Amino acid sequence: MTEADGSTDFEGVKTTAFCYLERNQCPCCQTCPSGGERLVVSSPPAESLAPAQHGAFLSGYSSQRVFFTYVCCGECGARYCPIYYNPEQLGSLYSQQAENMASVPLEARYRAQQRYADLLMKHSTGSGSFLEIGADIGLLARCCAAAADFDRIWLFEPNLSVHPEIDARLAGFPYVVQAEWSKCIPAETVSTAAMIHVVDHLVDPAATLLNIREALQPNGILLMVTHNVESLLAKLLGRLWPPYTLQHPQLYSPKSITRLVGRLGFEVLEIVDAINYFPASHLLNGALSILGLPKPPWVFPRQIVPVRLGNMAVVVRRSG
Ligand SMILES: [Zn+2]
Repeated sequence: MTEADGSTDFEGVKTTAFCYLERNQCPCCQTCPSGGERLVVSSPPAESLAPAQHGAFLSGYSSQRVFFTYVCCGECGARYCPIYYNPEQLGSLYSQQAENMASVPLEARYRAQQRYADLLMKHSTGSGSFLEIGADIGLLARCCAAAADFDRIWLFEPNLSVHPEIDARLAGFPYVVQAEWSKCIPAETVSTAAMIHVVDHLVDPAATLLNIREALQPNGILLMVTHNVESLLAKLLGRLWPPYTLQHPQLYSPKSITRLVGRLGFEVLEIVDAINYFPASHLLNGALSILGLPKPPWVFPRQIVPVRLGNMAVVVRRSG
């Protein structure tokens, strides 16, 4: 079977060169591939090249980008890369990466994060501690902190260059910001946790979710925003869909993320389409780039518009 125009069968993937990591089961449901799964493949596939030949790690919307081959799990529908960067390679690539939304105006970013905060706080007790992994420039944390009375706000953000911005935004709140996740959070103290566009990036998402579960109070909640491989945009664009990229070792569907959290002791409360806000010019230039078309000689309007880009917001609760 094929997906869009870049597919081959699973038998066609065979390389362990360049010290890449191998994963022999679906990270969501732990089913091993049978060999007959649909694949999503770039030309050439990343696993056939050395890391230095992959081009930009933050590969944007280019129609020419290279990525590791994705298997479509026959059991839960997740797309995952059986061959992917090893931890040392990933560490080196992320250390060189710039803040990835810097070109989007702050007002547009705030509007998207305020919507996430509204969704999260709808389910939150608003007490206990707050935790965010991948806090970016602190927009969601600020929105949630302003709406609640958290006794501690734990923020983890690997990009050290944005920490001063977090400090400025959270001034006056009882926050702690660190580069790396650590076991410093007392068990069962967090009522409200969030990971915005983080779980797509984790080579072992189950390990991180179990760490968060330990920190959560019984009935504590977690919001995850992630790309949805079953979205209309993903289906329309096939392998040209931008989330098929070097940074994502797997991509989720509502079913696959439900399977993942279900086996780790969470129950799903709500899954909704996420709304993003972007200047119209940003969206139109991105669409041209995805399709491999040149930029026009005129300038597109910069008015900020709401748009569904195939992302989903998933709220889960620690069960038991
Ligand atoms: Zn699966």
